Amino acid sequence: MHAFAVQPDDATIHDLELPTPQPSGREVLLKVLRAGVCHTDTHLREGGYDLGSRGQMSLKDRGIEYPMVLGHEVVGIVERAGADATTVRPGDTRLVYPWIGCGECRQCRNGHDNRCAAGRNLGVARHGGYAEYIMVPDEKYLIDIEGLDPSWAATLACSGLTAHSAVDKVLPLEPDEPVVVFGAGGLGLTAIAVLRARGHKNICAVDVAERNLELARDMGATSTALSGPGKDARDISRAAGGAPSAVIDFVNNGATATAAFDILAKAGTMIQVGLFGGEVTIPTAMLALRMIRIEGSFVGTLAQLRDLVKIAKAGKLPSIPVSERSLTAAEVSRALDDLTSGGVAGRIVLTA
Ligand SMILES: [Zn+2]
Ligand SMILES: [Zn+2]
Repeated sequence: MHAFAVQPDDATIHDLELPTPQPSGREVLLKVLRAGVCHTDTHLREGGYDLGSRGQMSLKDRGIEYPMVLGHEVVGIVERAGADATTVRPGDTRLVYPWIGCGECRQCRNGHDNRCAAGRNLGVARHGGYAEYIMVPDEKYLIDIEGLDPSWAATLACSGLTAHSAVDKVLPLEPDEPVVVFGAGGLGLTAIAVLRARGHKNICAVDVAERNLELARDMGATSTALSGPGKDARDISRAAGGAPSAVIDFVNNGATATAAFDILAKAGTMIQVGLFGGEVTIPTAMLALRMIRIEGSFVGTLAQLRDLVKIAKAGKLPSIPVSERSLTAAEVSRALDDLTSGGVAGRIVLTA
């Protein structure tokens, strides 16, 4: 099969010929129909994350094997299933849950695959969707998306799930308590849509681009604040009508995390999601006195993805802007370049 893969210390996406995997047991082989492009892919291509004064986190040192086929927002058509798979048949269209754990540790047994210390995520630690075929290790990771646009459905596996899981960490609140969302890209817009779908009524979007704030208002943000150099973080509380009970930070760099800490209400919650990197210095006494809860959030569980698909099927989740391009090595490369330079509104999805 054709696979579009990265090699270590090489930003080129290579069109490689890899053996097509043969499913056995409960494994399922799918023909890739859609593959969404995520910011994480740009980090994987660059080889790591910015850890502020601690330097760079190298993914190669964390056991990533090359060549690696990226792509973790995948919708495919079942091609073949192992003999023990009973819930899917060739021809079925399915969304893939890619955040796959060891299946045996406490986190996995409790349904928190995404928290597994030995997780091997599709498109990160094992081959993902920038290829003709993708092998999914168990049929339980496949979700029926009947009635949904496959391009949009693909984005639910990471962008959508990450937003939904972050919202899960701040709700329930009273509908009028201010919730601030930093970053109105694909994830932030989805979080705003999910907050709305779940009945929240005071959502303030913050971004450096006025154009993104316009999209945020279309998605249901009730107020917006333009951020950037020279802007006062208190403008955000003023726009939101008071100190926020929660901040969901899809940027999560030093500036946004500091602003989140500074504007939160007493006993407020900051959910740190973005991987833009950097670090934050917090007065420890203030942390105690103001009883701020800081929680990191990374993707979500299989149950949360099933729940999100249900919300989408019920028509309660407005679709984020999706631009479709064709699934080729050149287009994978161009999409990653565009995301790195920050020039994408909504989400890019590659179509086969
Ligand atoms: Zn992702
Ligand atoms: Zn595990």
